[in-house]
Amino acid sequence: MARVSFPYSAPVSQTLFDRAAAVTPGGVNSPVRAFRAVGGTPRFMVSGTGPYLTDADGREYVDLVCSWGPMILGHSHPEVIAAVQEAVSHGTSFGTPGEGEVALAEEIVARIEPVEQVRLVSSGTEATMSAIRLARGFTGRAKVIKFAGCYHGHVDALLASAGSGVATLGLPDTPGVTGAQAGDTIVVPYNDLEAVQEAFHKHPGEIACVITEAAPGNMGVVPPRPGFNEGLKAACAKNGALYISDEVMTGFRTSKAGWYGVDGVKPDLMTFGKVMGGGFPAAAFGGRADVMAHLAPAGPVYQAGTLSGNPVATAAGLAQLRLLDDAAYDKVNAVSERLRGLVSEALGKEGVAHRVQNASNMFTVFFTDREVRNYEEAKAQESFRFTAFFHSMLSQGVYLPPSSFESWFVSTAHDERAVERIAAALPAAARAAAEATEATA
Ligand code: PLP
Repeated sequence: MARVSFPYSAPVSQTLFDRAAAVTPGGVNSPVRAFRAVGGTPRFMVSGTGPYLTDADGREYVDLVCSWGPMILGHSHPEVIAAVQEAVSHGTSFGTPGEGEVALAEEIVARIEPVEQVRLVSSGTEATMSAIRLARGFTGRAKVIKFAGCYHGHVDALLASAGSGVATLGLPDTPGVTGAQAGDTIVVPYNDLEAVQEAFHKHPGEIACVITEAAPGNMGVVPPRPGFNEGLKAACAKNGALYISDEVMTGFRTSKAGWYGVDGVKPDLMTFGKVMGGGFPAAAFGGRADVMAHLAPAGPVYQAGTLSGNPVATAAGLAQLRLLDDAAYDKVNAVSERLRGLVSEALGKEGVAHRVQNASNMFTVFFTDREVRNYEEAKAQESFRFTAFFHSMLSQGVYLPPSSFESWFVSTAHDERAVERIAAALPAAARAAAEATEATA
């Protein structure tokens, strides 16, 4: 727990947090929200408009979390809200097929060439879990290769050396996952093709798939080195395994066609979430039609969901995707580039060792002077400097992800005023980072 001083109290949030802690483990419904890595009181938010969030104490923040990625148009975008209101006026769930889910599937298939067929689910976790099951069912093999520091949701088999909250909290592989569930998972270092080839060599005919974040954001942003994703694809093709690209974070964010739109490497299966739900629980997995044909009811691999393709969630997702044209991505990319420059300049002025790494408009500030290529290198950064930086920004009304192992997210709504507010907060935050010592964290 951090011992930095917290420049502002947040009494209403603290009261809510105390109430929450009485009825919910740790007071939150997803671990990173609890501020454990940085200390202090998690802010309970009551509303969001454009690039701003307002907390229960009435304080406004420029939001650089964007709900961990989904809010790429900013909060309460009028067209998304109107689509939700229209959908909800007809009812909230029917448990039958509906036109909205067809339209959303068509939009995904139209944007992302490797996706010939898609199945809608309600969370990124469900998407990756189902994609892995399908890969196993299709190949008749059990083993899965994943990368240390990549997070694919809290799927039992994929929690080994996972990033995101698992990295933030410094958890070992979690209790509750049995040896049998984890035993078929092979974890190798990210950006290390030789390790992948060695795993295939050691387990001939046993590996169902390789799953990778298309461009990882869950150990902080660590983009694939040139040729890495191509190498994975080739290794899978050579060994009869499927290449699964997890685009839950990058999908519809890093370009119109996600990371596939950036590197053009064609996966067998892909997973999506976040942006495609427009702030609602909607996610998907899809890919080659011959593989997807193995899914029930077309084929024998079972997968289902009471709220899959929910009409309100699909309306929100569809409205958001339809607004995401080339101009929108240009805007998000430009804001990201500008902020990366401003952060780097402020830290540079204070002599703070740092690397700003990005994958398209996703970015992370690592407190290290070396390039970060994998999880071990991400963990070697001086996270205590981030803690001081984070609290200084928060006290000045800028809401960053409360962990040094996460991507920062921006939106089309981050206008000049929002950028200027961030710029004004940076010098003091950089100074706080410079002055931080391990003892203060
Ligand atoms: N895959 C990736 C790459 C993610 O970043 C996440 C969540 O952050 C997930 C899967 C899991 O998605 P969800 O939290 O919707 O279950």
